[in-house]
Amino acid sequence: MKATIVLLGGDGIGPEVVAQGKRVLDAVAAKFGHTFTFVPELIGGAALDAHGVPLTDSTLVSCKEANAVLLGAVGGPKWDALPGHLRPEKGLLALRKGLGLWANLRPVKVHPLLADKSPLRPERLENVDLVFVRELTGGVYFGEKKRDQTERGARAFDALTYEEYEIERVVRLAFRLAEARRGKVTSVDKANVLETSRLWREVASRVAKDHPAVTLEHQLVDSCAMRLLTHAASFDVIVTENMFGDILTDEGAALVGSLGMMPSASLGDGRVGLFEPIHGSAPDIAGKGIANPLGTILSVAMLLKHSLGLVAEAEAVEAAVDATVRAGILTGDLASATPKSTIAVGADVSSRVVSSSKG
Ligand code: NAD
Repeated sequence: MKATIVLLGGDGIGPEVVAQGKRVLDAVAAKFGHTFTFVPELIGGAALDAHGVPLTDSTLVSCKEANAVLLGAVGGPKWDALPGHLRPEKGLLALRKGLGLWANLRPVKVHPLLADKSPLRPERLENVDLVFVRELTGGVYFGEKKRDQTERGARAFDALTYEEYEIERVVRLAFRLAEARRGKVTSVDKANVLETSRLWREVASRVAKDHPAVTLEHQLVDSCAMRLLTHAASFDVIVTENMFGDILTDEGAALVGSLGMMPSASLGDGRVGLFEPIHGSAPDIAGKGIANPLGTILSVAMLLKHSLGLVAEAEAVEAAVDATVRAGILTGDLASATPKSTIAVGADVSSRVVSSSKG
């Protein structure tokens, strides 16, 4: 197939890890006979330095016209003192909004060889393989905000609203994912106290009727937070609203123990998805060639699956990452013996894709 992929390296280690993501995409193209056209663009601090804004209109147009966007990370101390509208992360928010991305997917899979990197005991991590589906554009983060004064002092409001269609589309996505996985959706809410959560629960129960092969369970967010630490392997797909998802996905990231290993995808109605590692621009290690590229490379696997529909190719990339980890070709954040460079890890995964039996 032919596909156009925008590469947004961004700041700090972003360009270093995205270069390895591209290397793996080149390997997939060579192995499976695809033609990928890459369009490098700037975002975040890099775009501020070059154009005075964190995302230019022409970059947004490039992204809208592409099949998918691969992003590194944005931000860094150089731009910390700038006013709010000129912060690097505003570029990322504008991109998500411009592409209409309303769902964020974050898989949490603990590699058995890396279980000792987690703060949890290894036996608690056996068979953990779940994916969070977080609603991304609604809820309290986007509700009306205001302040007033009472006789006792200041009072602040943040409105939490959800419309039925916003809930339904993200819950449907979760069910479709579960159908291709282990067939279980956990819908997380706070229905004992929140009206938005009661609506969420009603919609999830209704959507479940269209997916008889999938089991739906409802869980309160507080007990879900606990169950993630005690029985994470019992989850398959967890779907939840924006703020609960924000908090629970960070808890999920802590289970894995390495920020550098974790991918994410943001999806919407359109065909263009945004794929990025969950880590930031890591200014402390930028330019040293030691950043872990595996979170970006696993984001490439998600890009192949979700935006290009190339499932066998995605599985080949995941298998190659698994083999690289088993071979101990790891950057310093994971290596117990001699750490390898960002480029060495990317090159190892790429060569395993090329020599894989698939294709
Ligand atoms: P960070 O994720 O950049 O770094 C946290 C720690 O993890 C650092 O010690 C870093 O060296 C390490 N780390 C992160 N990614 C790594 C990798 N791939 N390989 C090896 N080690 C890795 O978080 P932070 O320090 O809080 O933020 C730094 C900058 O990144 C800030 O400007 C922040 O706003 C920005 N940020 C951007 C995003 C994004 O672009 N989506 C997300 C989070 C933070």
